[in-house]
Amino acid sequence: PATRLKSFSESVIRGMTRLANQYGSINLAQGFPDFNPPQELLAALHRAADGMNHQYAVTWGAPRFRQALAKKITRFSGLPVDPDKHLVVTCGSTEAMMVAMMTACNPGDKVIVFSPFYENYAADAILSGAEPIFVPLSPPEFKYDSEALRKAFEQKPKAIIICNPSNPSGKVFTREELMEIATLAEKHDTFVITDEVYEHIVYAPHKHVSFATLPGMFERTITCNSLSKTYSITGWRLGYVMASAEVIAQARKVHDFLTVGAAAPLQEAAVVGLEFPDSYYEGLLKEYSLKRDLFLDYIAKTGLPYTEPQGAYYVLVDISSLGFARDTEAAEWMTREIGVTGVPGSSFFREPVNHLIRFHFAKQEETLRAAGERLLKLT
Ligand code: GLN
Repeated sequence: PATRLKSFSESVIRGMTRLANQYGSINLAQGFPDFNPPQELLAALHRAADGMNHQYAVTWGAPRFRQALAKKITRFSGLPVDPDKHLVVTCGSTEAMMVAMMTACNPGDKVIVFSPFYENYAADAILSGAEPIFVPLSPPEFKYDSEALRKAFEQKPKAIIICNPSNPSGKVFTREELMEIATLAEKHDTFVITDEVYEHIVYAPHKHVSFATLPGMFERTITCNSLSKTYSITGWRLGYVMASAEVIAQARKVHDFLTVGAAAPLQEAAVVGLEFPDSYYEGLLKEYSLKRDLFLDYIAKTGLPYTEPQGAYYVLVDISSLGFARDTEAAEWMTREIGVTGVPGSSFFREPVNHLIRFHFAKQEETLRAAGERLLKLT
């Protein structure tokens, strides 16, 4: 097998799901909901199944889906998105990120990645032949050091990856931080690849700023997003890349030869979700705010320190006081003995970090209560 495969392992997130299943533990590792998407989407899926949508869709996305998607993006961001020029529909944002990386980078190019990072980014960099330059977002604040960022840009990176809201830290980048990155990206002529899958899960008073909306930034931003989290349909594998017409013309080729296209009947059904009124998104955020408060209350009761997430649905919990040398041991022990599974923090950090476990709270209230009660045994 190719030597590049030696430099990364299988996903720890997905590995922890398998471990949770093996022990019958509550899985707060891989971030996905244990509740169904809205009824309207299920009904639309039935209609799509009964229709004539069972062959390939247009490679870069079914026209109806792209039109609805462009409209929805314009509604929230104000960007004049052309469904025929600015979008490629992908198999989840996982493919979108790979497409973005392969579109932006030649082998050997450098890419700035903030650490902690969503584990796919390092693998994406290796698979596309790019070399990551890591800039720490140090816990518990998860602020970057401007000087370190400036130095990273001086290494002439081809792109910077921003996950906003951030998995696993829950950080929501402020407009000022994004403007600082924009200034550096402009100065060094760098692509900005943003992963904004949690854009609708941002807790007050924090606000989501989509990087492409910053002055002059649309042309250099490659936005990766998906419907997975916003409509609770992680298994539908519907994502997209949004970028300038010039970049999209190239991204379409990468996507075409990687996967041909996302599932046609699912694109057809998902149009209904893209047309949901604003109240849907308000309801979603309210639900997640309640889940966050409920789960964090339990964590607070355990006495383990944590950083309150500003967005997304993850929390990094400091388990130093449990006395494990390795976070992987701690996560396995917790799965076996406590019956709750999280992801060892080390899988998200470049730096040697062994004192954090990431839990997610995209679960029904009763699941969160059951997990919370078990976690209280840690005290
Ligand atoms: N984004 C989710 C997480 O971080 C899961 C993503 C995946 O497994 N594809 O847990």
